[in-house]
Amino acid sequence: MGSDETSTVADRSAPTRAAPAPDRRYDCLDDAARLARRYLDGPGDRPVTAAAGLDELRAVLARPLPDEGEDPSAVVESLARDVEPGLVASGGPRYFGFVIGGAVPTAVAADWLVSAWDQNGGGFVASPALSVVEEVAAAWVRELLGVPASSGVGFVTGCQMANFTCLAAARHAVLRDAGWDVEAHGLHGAPRIRVLTGEYAHVTIGVACRLLGLGQLVDVVPADNQGRMRADALSEALADGADGPTIVCAQAGEINTGAFDPFLDIARLCRDHRAWLHIDGAFGLWAAASQRRHTLVAGAEQANSWATDGHKWLNVPYDCGIAIVADAQAHLAAMTSTSAYVPAHAADVPYGLDWTPEFSRRARGVTVFAALRQLGRHGLADLIDRCCDHAGLIARRLAAEPGLEIVNDVVLNQVLVRFGDDDALTDAVIERVQRDGVCWLAGSTFRGRRVMRISVVGWQTTPADAHRSADAIITAVRAAGG
Ligand SMILES: *Cc1c(COP(=O)(O)O)cnc(C)c1O
Repeated sequence: MGSDETSTVADRSAPTRAAPAPDRRYDCLDDAARLARRYLDGPGDRPVTAAAGLDELRAVLARPLPDEGEDPSAVVESLARDVEPGLVASGGPRYFGFVIGGAVPTAVAADWLVSAWDQNGGGFVASPALSVVEEVAAAWVRELLGVPASSGVGFVTGCQMANFTCLAAARHAVLRDAGWDVEAHGLHGAPRIRVLTGEYAHVTIGVACRLLGLGQLVDVVPADNQGRMRADALSEALADGADGPTIVCAQAGEINTGAFDPFLDIARLCRDHRAWLHIDGAFGLWAAASQRRHTLVAGAEQANSWATDGHKWLNVPYDCGIAIVADAQAHLAAMTSTSAYVPAHAADVPYGLDWTPEFSRRARGVTVFAALRQLGRHGLADLIDRCCDHAGLIARRLAAEPGLEIVNDVVLNQVLVRFGDDDALTDAVIERVQRDGVCWLAGSTFRGRRVMRISVVGWQTTPADAHRSADAIITAVRAAGG
């Protein structure tokens, strides 16, 4: 191709290490599969906490940027060996910290294929097949959650971006109805938008409002003792203001208690005041998929938008959030990207990039498709119910122990525990349980008091795991002098 001179330069910079022969090039994928199996199938008894601290991990992992490339299999082998002591078994059967779901095997495998195929999930042109898989996954999610079949669906990185996407659509719609095109003119000079959230709204709602230029305009509606937005308080707040552009953010599954806002009343109030109703249902919205628990979300289907996660209760790997908007045109108006070099598409066939803030992205809806095929409708309901049953089992075991108080009504998969009337004792027990390594859970502050917070969101947890974990907590309480 080049002149003699340029080929001389190329020769001089040729790699010093021979590249693997073409038929060995992808051996590292087999290595990865073998190492992943060893990790996932590994001893169920390994401590849930990471064995290595940050100093040890840095000592092993920190190295100068290599000048020469390394053998692919050697990289994969040493990566697995070096990180394993610092991994937290958060996908395992006895991890109850935060709200961190496991990952069902098909979803992990599908995720690997998504990486191997390396398609840009942003559009049909770049990835016809995976765009269609995402269409199917979107239809299944709408059906399972009981939201209108005509809703827009965007596969985003997590519920933070799902909240952002939904509230961008809300911002568009409420200003459109007030005669203002926010996509064209921004917020300068726009009618004021009023945002009302429950007292216990998740922090990501506030972040989404901030990113959307609504940061200072949020009114907080008082909650009851389970963290549920009070409908009477919302009614008063709505009656208090002018019926201008208004967005109400309700919640399915409060991050501590797992409680659900009273959607039937809230939806009626929003209709009366022509307010947009958004529901943050990162994990709780999946109660809709359970015959035994779907009444918890009664009325949620009347909302205008819903944000949820795939990587929590659907048990697909990170990252996967889902933004759903009933008014698909508002969703598109807020998110669509058009550019001279992106081929024009028929108005009725939007691209993946029209539903999400991302332009290029992995086809993360594929893991949703795979997980739902492995589980089926019944398997998903069973996953939800099992997690809730195990949370209930742990709560009953702990409630039977003197000095322990279950702080919340255990309606879902979340349990809050309090040890005596002493914040310090509660924190001491949490620390002991974490150190002991049978199970892992974290602390939180709910209504001004420290609590141990247990969240069951993994497909692998069995009743035996729930009992072992309850035993470990009770042992820690007794050792801590509770
Ligand atoms: C976890 C959670 C979020 C944030 O979701 P990410 O996937 O971490 O971005 C938002 N709202 C609620 C209620 C949550 O539980």
